[in-house]
Amino acid sequence: MKRVYMDANATTPLLPEVLEAMRPYWMERFGNASSIHMDGQQAHSGVDRARATLAEFFNCHDAEVVFNSGGTEGDNTALFGLLRPGDHLITTSIEHSAVLRAAEHLAERGVETTFVAPQPDGFIDPADIERALRPETRLISVMLANNETGVLQPVEEIGKIAAAAGAFFHIDAVQGAGKVPLDVRRFGCHLCSISAHKMYGPKGVGAMFVRRGTPVESLIVGGSHERRRRAGTENVPGIVGLGKAAELGLHSLQEGAMDHVAALRDRLEAGILAIAGTGVNGGYSVPRVANTSNIWFDEVEGEALVIALDLKGVAVSGGSACHSGATEPSHVLLAMGLNKARARASLRFSLLKTATEADIDYVLQVVPDAAQQLRAISPVAAGTAG
Ligand code: PLP
Repeated sequence: MKRVYMDANATTPLLPEVLEAMRPYWMERFGNASSIHMDGQQAHSGVDRARATLAEFFNCHDAEVVFNSGGTEGDNTALFGLLRPGDHLITTSIEHSAVLRAAEHLAERGVETTFVAPQPDGFIDPADIERALRPETRLISVMLANNETGVLQPVEEIGKIAAAAGAFFHIDAVQGAGKVPLDVRRFGCHLCSISAHKMYGPKGVGAMFVRRGTPVESLIVGGSHERRRRAGTENVPGIVGLGKAAELGLHSLQEGAMDHVAALRDRLEAGILAIAGTGVNGGYSVPRVANTSNIWFDEVEGEALVIALDLKGVAVSGGSACHSGATEPSHVLLAMGLNKARARASLRFSLLKTATEADIDYVLQVVPDAAQQLRAISPVAAGTAG
């Protein structure tokens, strides 16, 4: 059976060039990047080259790039590394759990957080960030692109607000990286987190831009790796893979690959919206990354549709997440004002940059039937479940 993977916001496969770039670093160039002998220096120069590419990717200096284990670590580092009892944090109610759970932990340590809600279209109004400022606001943390809706947030305006208030600014750019150009100088941020596995690199590795002089404490202490900003022997193959993924990401942005992805996404969306009782979450009025479409299907249990599509070879995500064995509707969709039923009835289609017209044809062939069949047997449609 044909399989079409439309869950790129969950993770992406390695591009072949990334695997090839990593390959020598498992066996031939296996050295510890801190060793002074030739084996160590070979590994070290692999890390250095990746750092130079990441500096270009972020538009920063090489010395401002810190390699780590991915987006969760970057987000945790920004919050735990900067905030102390008595400080105030401003973030949004649509952040990833890596930010939201960190803020909850910090509440127990005397850090108060204001969670700014989005507009119904998923957009964070910078004026709401400004209104939330207090004299003790030390950090503002806002994502570049939302993982569920793809909505791009006005980080440049928020950066100006942070600068005027003398607050630090962190951007979770995990879902924006490789889809839109990053420019930490233009964004005006002090910290910016990205993750390799969302951009065709390996899992368990990421990077963070740390603006020179930002007093962020390391979460992990030990050796003096990464200029004492993140201890632990470098994951050399992973870092080399991230470097290659960033290089390819820069090329594909320059070559306009995202326009092609956006055209495919728009065709997919138009085809699905032809089904009665459907609509887009985080709609057309706001900028979105090219690859993401979040769609509600009335009278359909989203999770059942995810399974039905999987059986037809199509991988997508639902608008619910499993927490402690119970299925909870997405906090992002609820924060946008959707009711629980509609949030549960929502699906996220997130296209790989290698997606083809044939992929869209296939998905458009199977989605209407799957939705129709579920509606026919749906207790939601029969009014017995809400
Ligand atoms: N931030 C966002 C917006 C994400 O989508 C994710 C992953 O889903 C993360 C952070 C966490 O990244 P990682 O999987 O590298 O820990």
